[in-house]
Amino acid sequence: MNAQAQALIRAAREMAARGLAAGTSGNVSLRTQGGILITPSAVQYEDLTPEMIPLLRPDGSFEGRFRPSSEWRFHLDIYLSRPEVGGVVHHHAPYCTALSMARRAIPPCHYMVTRFGGGDVRCADYALFGTAALSEAVLRALAGRRACLMANHGALTVGRDVEAALGAASELEVLAQHYLLSLQVGGPVLLSDQEIQDALDQFATAYRPNTGA
Ligand code: 13P
Ligand code: ZN
Repeated sequence: MNAQAQALIRAAREMAARGLAAGTSGNVSLRTQGGILITPSAVQYEDLTPEMIPLLRPDGSFEGRFRPSSEWRFHLDIYLSRPEVGGVVHHHAPYCTALSMARRAIPPCHYMVTRFGGGDVRCADYALFGTAALSEAVLRALAGRRACLMANHGALTVGRDVEAALGAASELEVLAQHYLLSLQVGGPVLLSDQEIQDALDQFATAYRPNTGA
C-alpha cells in the first residue's frame, strides 16, 4: 500500500511539475486491491506523505486522517463503472480549461484525438465542483472515451494505471493547445469518419508498443 501511495504522490507532483495543475487544483487517484487511493483535499502536492493518502471504499466511506479530494465521487464512479481503469487524473491545465470555459468539445481536428478512444473529446455539462451532479455529467461525457473536458472547470483523463492517466493528461493538454492555435488561423479542417477509423486502426495495429523485440 505504501508503494502505491508513493506512486500516487509521484504522479500528483509530476502533474504539478508539468504545469497541468497550480496550487491545490486537480486531483489524482489509483485503484488498489483494498480500495481507491486518492489525493487528500486542499493539500499542496509537495506536502504529501504516504500517511496522508486516504483510502476510499466503494460505498464512499474512507480511511485516514485527511479527507479525500472533494471530487472523490467522480473518481469512485469511474472505477465502479469502468473496470479497465486503474488511474484517474483531473486537472485545470490552461489550454484544456480555456476550451472548457468556451464549452467546446475537441472535434476530429487531428489524428491524435483517437488516443482518447474516438473521434472527439467531449465537454461535460457544467455542474458545481465536488457534487454528484458533476460525476453524472463526467460519466456521460466519458462514455467510450479515455478523456473529457469539464465545462468551466478543466479536464480529466483515465488510464490502465496512474502513469498512463498522467501521460494521457499531457497529451490532451497538447491536443487542446493545437486545437486552440488552429482556431486562430481560421479553424481546423476536420477529419472524416473514415479517416478517424483508419487512425484508430493504425494505433491498434501498426503503432503498437516498441519493445525492441
Ligand atoms: P481537491 O483539493 O478537493 O482535490 O479539489 C481540487 C479540484 O480541482 C476540485 O475540482
Ligand atoms: Zn477541479
